[in-house]
Amino acid sequence: SPLHSHATSFGRFLSNMIPLLLDVASNYDLMNDLMSGGLHRLWKDRLVSMLNPFPGMKHLDVAGGTGDVAFRILDGISSIKRRANQDPINDHLQEETQIHVCDINPNMLNVGRKRAIERGLGEDKSLIWVEGDAEALSFEDNTMDGYTIAFGIRNVTHIEKVLAEAYRVLKHGGRFLCLELSHVEVPVFKELYDYYSFSVIPAVGELVAGDRDSYQYLVESIRRFPPQEKFASMIADAGFQKVEYENLVGGVVAIHSEVGV
Ligand code: SAM
Repeated sequence: SPLHSHATSFGRFLSNMIPLLLDVASNYDLMNDLMSGGLHRLWKDRLVSMLNPFPGMKHLDVAGGTGDVAFRILDGISSIKRRANQDPINDHLQEETQIHVCDINPNMLNVGRKRAIERGLGEDKSLIWVEGDAEALSFEDNTMDGYTIAFGIRNVTHIEKVLAEAYRVLKHGGRFLCLELSHVEVPVFKELYDYYSFSVIPAVGELVAGDRDSYQYLVESIRRFPPQEKFASMIADAGFQKVEYENLVGGVVAIHSEVGV
């Protein structure tokens, strides 16, 4: 019908124009917000509150190009410092914090660097941007107090290698946290979520980012990723001894962790 063809050509117009109007970073943000209904922000907040960062810590955020997790860690540390500075006894808090942000894609790192500048963190020496592969990290053994990976492990070639590297670079007792899209285990909600992911996500991806295939791939990669228990046992196989996980929104995402040995 004429109405239908009108709607189709308007859809095509939108999908051609919107990606041109947005730069990579804001496009990426917009898609994250649209797909998760803004929830990815709360999930990352939760990840960082479980990490419980502290001044002077040596931390590695892997697949962290845009800086989303790193900025939250720095904010957490700054607020501890602000509180502690009122007490001059806490001189040891001046110890140098290092947040290494490692990503395989230099464009993502550039997005992160640009954002750091926008946040007034351009000269902040605690932020260290490193191009590198999660499967073969360039850091020494036993050097990190913390390791995070948010929405990064699902798409690597060898999950086991990534976990082994995380274990290698962490100090004994270091904190490991992984935030990833996972498997909904609640009946009815699972059916709704399947409908949402198979029908809505690729359609929104096409309309807003002009890229149906990538979002179709996203949905399929979530399906293929090991379920919570299986992933927990893979983390244990890498050497971690007290692995726990927490489902958020019924398992839409899960945070696997080892934070207190
Ligand atoms: N952590 C950020 C967040 O939560 O918004 C970014 C997540 S983004 C979906 C996935 C990131 O993983 C991309 O920046 C990509 O370049 C990076 N990545 C993919 N494979 C990687 C690998 N083998 N090593 C390091 N980073 C990788």
